Parts: sequence; structure tokens; C-alpha cells
Amino acid sequence: MIKALQLRINLNQERQADGLLQKAAFDLGMKPSEITGIKILRKSIDARKQQIMFNYKVEVYINEPLPENSEYQFNYQDVSKANPVHIIGFGPAGMYAALRCIELGYKPIVLERGKNVQERRRDLKAINQDHFVNEDSNYCFGEGGAGTYSDGKLYTRSLKRGDVRRIFENLVYHGATDQILVDAHPHIGTNKLPKVVQNIRETIIRYGGEVHFETRVTNFSIKDQKIVALQLLDGTELDTEKVILATGHSARDIFYLLNDKNIKLEAKSFAMGVRVEHPQEIIDGIQYHCKGEQRDELLPAASYSLVQQVNDRGVYSFCMCPGGFIVPAATANGEVVVNGMSPSKRNNKFANSGIVTEIKAERDLHKYEHFGPLKALEYQKDLERLAFTSGGRRQSAPGQRLTDFVEGRLSNSLNETSYQPGLKSAPLHSLLPKIIGGSLRKGFKAFGEKMKGYYTEQANIIGVESRTSSPVNIPRTDSLEHPEITNLYPCGEGGGYAGGIISAAMDGERCAEAATTNF
Ligand code: FAD
Repeated sequence: MIKALQLRINLNQERQADGLLQKAAFDLGMKPSEITGIKILRKSIDARKQQIMFNYKVEVYINEPLPENSEYQFNYQDVSKANPVHIIGFGPAGMYAALRCIELGYKPIVLERGKNVQERRRDLKAINQDHFVNEDSNYCFGEGGAGTYSDGKLYTRSLKRGDVRRIFENLVYHGATDQILVDAHPHIGTNKLPKVVQNIRETIIRYGGEVHFETRVTNFSIKDQKIVALQLLDGTELDTEKVILATGHSARDIFYLLNDKNIKLEAKSFAMGVRVEHPQEIIDGIQYHCKGEQRDELLPAASYSLVQQVNDRGVYSFCMCPGGFIVPAATANGEVVVNGMSPSKRNNKFANSGIVTEIKAERDLHKYEHFGPLKALEYQKDLERLAFTSGGRRQSAPGQRLTDFVEGRLSNSLNETSYQPGLKSAPLHSLLPKIIGGSLRKGFKAFGEKMKGYYTEQANIIGVESRTSSPVNIPRTDSLEHPEITNLYPCGEGGGYAGGIISAAMDGERCAEAATTNF
């Protein structure tokens, strides 16, 4: 017999090895020895009240063996001689497009401008230590895309876009912990992601697909509304029949290329702002009601999610990284961009989060109108250049104490930071465009009301958080092709069809299915 139950246990019960079993037996009015096993379907922490509780959704097995955890079989088959599909970009969208092509019996040929995960590490070190950005290999470009050196948070709001569970199980198949199948807020961590990404590459190659690193696509030839050949940086031309374009939100040269060829693009609304960094113990103290004390060892570094309407503009936290690091996510020299990542244990002493505000392409960018569909991209670029100049013309970033930013004065000194290239004190309150700076200042005040202790001089704000999503939309029809180029499938975050690792992966699968229909 299988009984579905919702169980709520406290910290002490959670600490006991058989706490969940005892609670299940108690709720069912039976002896623990009568239960053969418990399958956890979902686990979350409820810290709203002083007494912290763990919520479990479980299936209790009585006189029945526990089943396997996985629901999916991945039907990988030899595709070495099958029809090829060219996939540009090996981020989550490109990786999942390639895996899906193999399941469907087509040969993925992946072209990725960056390096493999091991070699990419050296280029990240150069950004942090030498302030040099390799324009093909950085926090956004390289094997696994922007998702590799990230927090690996696996949340998505786009539940309708595909089967989230399938994506998660495929990550577990490739080495991620199966804890992600049950956690309410699953994450993998930047120390574990490279191995998962490498395993995905190995699967693709084992079944006859191809993955080419340091292979930047620079141009394509079009005939009769179709891409007939891809041109690479080294001058090579590759004939092609189907192209999945999964180049991400930072591939500006691809947006310029499409625009120069008069291929239809649209400016897209997006969000921009800063990253705020607090000591993790402040966030723990607020969220776990333990101010001045260490959080219980069973509790993960606390996170938060904040949103405030300021006049007619939303201000909200984005990609919050508990126990994490702020990283330099620029893709070119001459710009400063910040983002966040954390290790699987989330055990760094800082909590950081993007705090951003909406920029509406049709309402806020009148001065950029002459850039047409690239107006939001040009606005984004200007802000990143401003961060570069005010941060000291290196990868060091402009910073300010949170309270100084809100009260409008330059900081005489800054708090310690996890941002390795370093900070330079700058008057971000006056440097940021008013629509961003003004909204954020009001937003931070309101956040301080919602989370007492959040608005503190012990926090820094660091600029700029500008790559939250793509500033350009590459249109596509219901069959996922570009309306003017019938074998081009804009895919993932770059096209405007995803906003994170999971939604990008789901879109990759969808594009593979579309590209292989009627081949
Ligand atoms: P991308 O991951 O951007 O991949 C695009 C790939 O295309 C890149 O590898 C690039 O090198 C390649 N490429 C570009 N141009 C060319 C070209 N011309 N030729 C060949 N290859 C090319 N999301 C989450 O859900 N959770 C998180 O915790 C999280 N943390 C993040 C932390 C950081 C530091 C960053 C930068 C991002 C984070 N994100 C997170 C966002 C997430 O990584 C992206 O949403 C996701 O990676 C988008 O996937 P994608 O495949 O569409 O594009």
C-alpha cells in the first residue's frame, strides 16, 4: 500500500535520523517497523514563525518496496550517420537541444566560441586577477554557457513551457545530486556544475554528436530565405540545413550581424540595476529570527525574494545568491558587469542579490530610438561603460554603502566584499540614470521596512547588474522558425525565450523538436 502524506517536523525531529519515519508512523497510527520506506517528493523550509519547520510531501510505502527515483528513460542512440543539425552555442539551451536531437535520431553539431570548462577556468582567473577579459571565454562564454560558473539555481516560473522534471532528471543522469528532484528551491553550485556540463558533452560525443570549442560563428550565407552555410572566425564555411541559434543574451556580435543583414529583430524590455551584498549572518538573522547568533547547522544560508512597486516601476531582487560571490561577468574589455554565483554548500560569508528595475523598451528609451531594435542593447552598453569608467577603468567595480546610496552621499570607505577584482567608491546615486537610481533608492528603503535589518550601512551596492535577460527579441513563428529565415530557430535566452538555466534548457528541447520535424 502507498499513502501520500504531508509531514511537518521541527528542527529537533529533522536532526534525528528516523525523525521523518517516526512522524509518518505517528500520523498514520502505525508502528515505524510496519513502514518499508518513505519516498520524499518535496522538501521545503518554513521560517515564517519563530519555530522553524520542515515541510515534506512524501509517499509512505507499507509492505511494498520503494521504487526507483527516476521517471524517465533517456533514449540516446547512435546518430553518427544521421542528418545533422547545427547548434550555435553550448549553454543550457544548446546542450539540451543537442541531447534532444540525439534522442530524436539526429546528429547535433555544436559550435561554441568559448573553451571547455577546464580551460575556461584560466580565463576567469585572468579577469579576476589581471583585469583582462577574453572575449570568447569568460563568465558568460564557454562550455555550459552562462550557467556553468553560476549559482546553478534551478527555479523557473515557466512551468508550461515543457517538462521541468525531465530537465532535472537529465541533470541527475549527468551527475547532479538527486536532491534537486525534491528541494523546493533546488540548486547545484558552481563547484559541481562543470562536471555535469562535461558529462553532458561526453554523452553527446559518445552517441555520435560533435562539440567544437573555440569555434565562433561570424557570418552566414542566405539563399531563398534559408541559411545555406555558416562562416567561422577562421574562415571555414560549413554547409547547413538546420540552425539552432542558442548564443545567449551576451552575444552582441550576433545581434549586430542579424541587424546588418536586415533580419527582423525587436527591442525587448528588460531589467537593470546593481548587486547588493550583505554579510550572510545579517540575512540569516532576519530570516531565521536568530540575530547575533549563528544559524542552526541544519539550515542552509538564508535567501530572500523582494519586490516593490515604485511609482509605475517594479523594483525586485534577482538571482539572489546566499553564501556566494559577486563575479565580473563582462564579455568584453571596457565594460563592467556584475552577477552572482555560489558553491553547492553556499558557505561563503556573504549574501548577494541583483536589485533591478524594469526598463520598458517602448517607454524609457526615447534617446536611443535611432538604434531601432538595438536600442535596449545600446542603453545596456552605455551603462556598462559607465560602470567601467567609474570603477577605475579596470574590472574593479563602482561600489557604495547601501545607506550612502539611498541618502545620496559618496562613501568614505566600503565594506569588505567577495568581488575579487575589487571595488572603487563611486557616487552611484548620481551616476545611474534617474529611472534606475531613483527607483532603486526608494525600493531599498521599502525593502528595509519589509526585512528589518536589511537596510544597513554594512551592505554595499555594486554596479552594474545589466545582463538580467536579453535586450533583443529574435522573433519566431509558432513552428519556432524565424519568420524570414525558415531554417533558423532562435533559441534560449538570447532570442528572448528563456530567463534562466531551466527555461533555457526546456527551450533547447523544444527547438530540437521543431528543427527535426519535417527534416
Ligand atoms: P548562454 O548560457 O548564454 O549560452 C550561450 C553560449 O553561446 C555561450 O556559451 C557562448 O559562448 C556561445 N556563443 C555566443 N556567441 C557565439 C557565436 N557567435 N558562435 C559560437 N558560440 C557562441 N540562471 C539560473 O537559472 N540560475 C542561476 O543561479 C544563475 N546564475 C547565473 C550566474 C551568472 C554569473 C550568470 C552570468 C548567469 C546566471 N544565470 C542563472 C543565467 C543563466 O546562466 C542563463 O539564463 C542561461 O545560461 C541561458 O542559457 P542559454 O543557453 O540561452 O545561453
